[in-house]
Amino acid sequence: MAARIIDGNAVAAAVRGRVAAEMPDFVREHGRPPVLATVLVGEDPASKVYVGGKHRACEEVGIGSAHHDLAADTSEAQLLELVEDLNRDDGVDGVLVQLPVPDQIDPDRVIAAIDPAKDVDGLTPVNAGLLAHGMPGLVSCTPAGVMELLRSEGVELEGAEAVVVGRSKLVGVPVSRLLLAANATVTVCHSRTRDLAAVCRRADVLVAAVGVPRLLGADAVKPGAVVIDVGVNRTDDGLVGDVDFEAAAERAAAITPVPGGVGPMTVAMLLVNTLAAARARV
Ligand code: NAP
Repeated sequence: MAARIIDGNAVAAAVRGRVAAEMPDFVREHGRPPVLATVLVGEDPASKVYVGGKHRACEEVGIGSAHHDLAADTSEAQLLELVEDLNRDDGVDGVLVQLPVPDQIDPDRVIAAIDPAKDVDGLTPVNAGLLAHGMPGLVSCTPAGVMELLRSEGVELEGAEAVVVGRSKLVGVPVSRLLLAANATVTVCHSRTRDLAAVCRRADVLVAAVGVPRLLGADAVKPGAVVIDVGVNRTDDGLVGDVDFEAAAERAAAITPVPGGVGPMTVAMLLVNTLAAARARV
């Protein structure tokens, strides 16, 4: 294997350490730590694990957190009421509604109801719009984590060819905006892209956010490229990414593993956003 493995666990630990180091000053100035409120509707086991991980991470760095469990048959109106309460609560700095929500609830309507100043997931139309306009706001956690990994690796983005596979609101689009803001030349691919491998092969920086196990093989990787695999796919072989790791690692200069690459960054950037939201509010 030629490629350097980008250690997301180590980069995430460094980010968490930076947040923890800022906590004593914050508490001294404001008399309390920043506080994140999470909301989970229903019993989805994976969501429970994710939310639990977020609370543990908060605790480790000294961020306060509160959790609201709602029954699976909660109506959209009830959830919107809770979001409004949390928006108004001066003791809450960040509001996170864990997705997915049950079918009777429109996730877009709920996300849009979160106060943009408390939108630590960076998913409200206001924060997405600020990012699109290159203005400061809360940036969604996984895309921010991708950029932090690239920064930690010292990857030169100015003038680089970056290809993002996936155009979701959650990952693909915000990653492409951030890469553009860093002066990369950005191409965004999706399910209708012709000759995907050929487009990917142009990339100095290749970001895969698709959700198809091992979609991108060696033929999609330019020799010397940096490959960031956001994909998390459960298969009979365990968790795999959207990139064929072994094949791509033969050609790439550096590559993130799955698990242990982008995954740990998402929670670390949530802590960064919660601290930033708290600083901006108080
Ligand atoms: P999504 O909303 O389903 O979007 C997938 C994107 O991939 C869409 O834009 C789709 O194109 C494109 N696509 C699907 N099949 C394709 C193909 N054969 N060729 C080219 N493009 C194709 O997924 P997402 O929420 O962005 O998540 C993507 C992956 O990242 C998933 O595996 C998810 O589990 C993972 N993820 C990981 C983290 C983390 O913390 N590590 C966080 C979020 C997501 P169209 O737009 O044309 O349909």
